Formats: sequence, C-alpha cells, structure tokens
Amino acid sequence: MLFKIKIMNKKEEMDKIEKEILNLKKSPLYKERILNKMLPVIGEGSLNAKIFFIGEAPGKKESETGKPFCGASGKILDELLDYIKLDRKKVYVTNIVKDRPPKNRDPKPEEIEIYVPFLDKQIEIIKPKIIATLGRFSMEYIMNRYGLSKEYDVISKTHGKVFSTKIGKHNVTIAPLYHPAVAVYNRNKLPELKKDFKVLK
Ligand code: URA
Repeated sequence: MLFKIKIMNKKEEMDKIEKEILNLKKSPLYKERILNKMLPVIGEGSLNAKIFFIGEAPGKKESETGKPFCGASGKILDELLDYIKLDRKKVYVTNIVKDRPPKNRDPKPEEIEIYVPFLDKQIEIIKPKIIATLGRFSMEYIMNRYGLSKEYDVISKTHGKVFSTKIGKHNVTIAPLYHPAVAVYNRNKLPELKKDFKVLK
C-alpha cells in the first residue's frame, strides 16, 4: 500500500494558521473581534522574505482591514522602509498578537501566550535571515524565545543593536527596533528610528 504524505507548501501552511486564528474562540480577544465585526490580522508580505517584522497588535484600522501596519504607525513604517530602500512587498510583516486589544491597550501576558505559537509557526515557515522586532513586547518575546534573555535590556538601551542566534539549523539575526508609533507621537524621534533601520541593510 502506498502512503500519501501531504507535504504542504508555504501558502498552505499559512492558510492553515489563518483558519486556526479565525476560529480561536479560546482567546479573550476573539469575543471582541466578533462583537465589533473586526478581523484578525495574520500577516502580510513575501513568504520567502529575508526580513520578518513583528509589531505588537493590530490597531483600529488594521483590524478593520485585516492588514498589518496600515494606519498611522504603518505610514511611519513605510517611511522607514523607503529610507533604507526596502520594498515592503519583499519583507513579511506581522504582530505578536493577531487581534486588537480593546482601545489599543497593551496586550496582556495571557493574550500573548495564546498567540505566540502562531508567530513561532510563521517564523518556521518563512525562515527569515533577520527578525526585526518593533517595540518592547515582540523584543522581549523573541529575545527570550531564542536564547538571548541575558543579552537585552530595556528597549531604550537595546534598540538598534543586533544579536545572533540559531533557529533550528539556521543562523538568524535579531534586530530589536523601536515601535514606529514612537514617531507618531513624537516626530523628532524619526531620525533615530531611521538610523536604527540602517542595521537591516
Ligand atoms: N501597531 C502594531 O503594533 N501593529 C500594527 O499592525 C499596527 C499598529
């Protein structure tokens, strides 16, 4: 008898993640999503991306459209990518938490815990060379997850530095960056964010 082993391609694997998140009833944010007729934000970009960006959680605009970083922070992200001449279509952009926390509050540890297995799987599918964390939540998760818990400090001291790790057999660079929202609230911070983005080149 011949056994058929289904080897899923990247798109199929990502679609499976999307289906699971769409049905993620155990998340406290699922109820909010349904109640407010919003969408989860799975991620967007190239499944062969070399650079993988991780934000915090979708904002209002993102959960209305299902697209990451399409509001005010997204405009800053686009500006930063333009500055280092990186085509957004060639990178992958997602968040640590895939549903919007009410009133854009910080994600709770128990919410992060529910969503991170999906993030881990997305990293496994895409196999990026560089993981760029945007803000402290994704920095803390990724640094702890990949054996760098002793290497980092608060984001104001860690941003713009790069760290090396291995994910499976692959060498991966971790680049903790400020969250683009920093420059939404204070445009004077933009030059510092631009300088940090240069490490990605
Ligand atoms: N802030 C985030 O962290 N992610 C988004 O997708 C939008 C704003």
